[in-house]
Amino acid sequence: MTENTLPSYLSPEHLGPWQTYLSQIEAVAPHIEVSLRPWIETLRRPKRSLIVDVPLRRDNGEIVHFEGYRVHHNTSRGPGKGGVRYHPDVTLSEVMALSAWMTIKNAVVNVPYGGAKGGIRVDPKLLSMPELERMTRRYTSEINILLGPDKDIPAPDMNTNEQVMAWMMDTYSVNQGRTTTGVVTGKPISLGGSLGRRDATGRGVFVTACAAAAKIGLAIPGARIAVQGFGNVGEAAARIFHDAGSHLVAVQDVGGTIYHPAGIDPYALKQHLLVGGKIGEFPGATLIAPSEFWSLDCDILVPAAVEGQLTADNAVGIRAQMIVEGANGPTTPAADAILHERNVLVVPDVLANAGGVTVSYFEWVQDFSSFFWTEEEINARLARIMSEAFDAVWEVAGERGLPLRTAAFVVACKRVLAARAMRGLYP
Ligand code: GLU
Repeated sequence: MTENTLPSYLSPEHLGPWQTYLSQIEAVAPHIEVSLRPWIETLRRPKRSLIVDVPLRRDNGEIVHFEGYRVHHNTSRGPGKGGVRYHPDVTLSEVMALSAWMTIKNAVVNVPYGGAKGGIRVDPKLLSMPELERMTRRYTSEINILLGPDKDIPAPDMNTNEQVMAWMMDTYSVNQGRTTTGVVTGKPISLGGSLGRRDATGRGVFVTACAAAAKIGLAIPGARIAVQGFGNVGEAAARIFHDAGSHLVAVQDVGGTIYHPAGIDPYALKQHLLVGGKIGEFPGATLIAPSEFWSLDCDILVPAAVEGQLTADNAVGIRAQMIVEGANGPTTPAADAILHERNVLVVPDVLANAGGVTVSYFEWVQDFSSFFWTEEEINARLARIMSEAFDAVWEVAGERGLPLRTAAFVVACKRVLAARAMRGLYP
């Protein structure tokens, strides 16, 4: 074994998001200055990965076990930061990839954090509220050694929300013997949460889409938008586009794929879902086959669900002018190559969905100073940071003839590796 042989858990058999991330790192390596290149290897392996057993006593007395994870990919620029995901498909390699994308994302928008991510392999829809609370508290205790407002700050991700963050904050605080609101972000407003956090990821998608649209001469009012995933990110993005005069022509979620060329009202769709309706039964829209979603005639496609959705198979049929990635890792490297070839502009996840962690940063700063900002201030600061990040990435892409994803990785990796090099290797 040579010193650079990958450990077995990082071997190529772990295809999927981690492999996607590694190929993104391969693409950026030639664009990093020679003096920083020796440090690239640190980006190819997480700093630390914790696997925990999460036992849960169910309401009927039965004890079941779930596997939980928390990964710190890199902390060169600051404490670990990133969400916690509850999903039956969560694996260590997925959490590793998500933590690595947080390292890149935080550096793209230049917030002073490293990258972290966590998750539990569980279907939370099968748990009662008290069970969800007990599982969250036990998971928080198990990963407690990694947590702290200056060590690792979790936030919501898929299937976790303000309530889950409140339980995490409370569990950590009880164990510390003092209330520490800054240990998680995405909290309820009543517990040190920030105005604007709930919509922040969707708003960031909108801000970057506007910046990209301006570059290709696409007007946002009247633009036809198709959104995959109608959760935290997709619903907010759809609503903000709608408010700006765009037409939400299609929505895809687990409950179905609907199409309506004149535009779906996202407020009415949300209400329909709140009262127990299925997406596929939304009045007025046409139910179409899930595979048809990708080749719909639209201007902006927003994948805002899970990884690996845009593949070589469906990328060839894309008719949208641009793709704005609300999800983390929705596009496979093969699809990326096809989209680049076909001149479809891809605004990558590490830029497009960075609005969430940007407002998480604002929340953390507000918690530390116990001084809270207005929603207008937050949205204005968010728009400024996202537009500046977009411009910096656009400039690098133009100068070097790179896709926006590689350009975003260039901007981010330079920041991370410069910090890493300055800190040096201990001992
Ligand atoms: N889970 C979100 C993301 O993937 C937000 C992370 C955070 O706010 O720390 O970016």
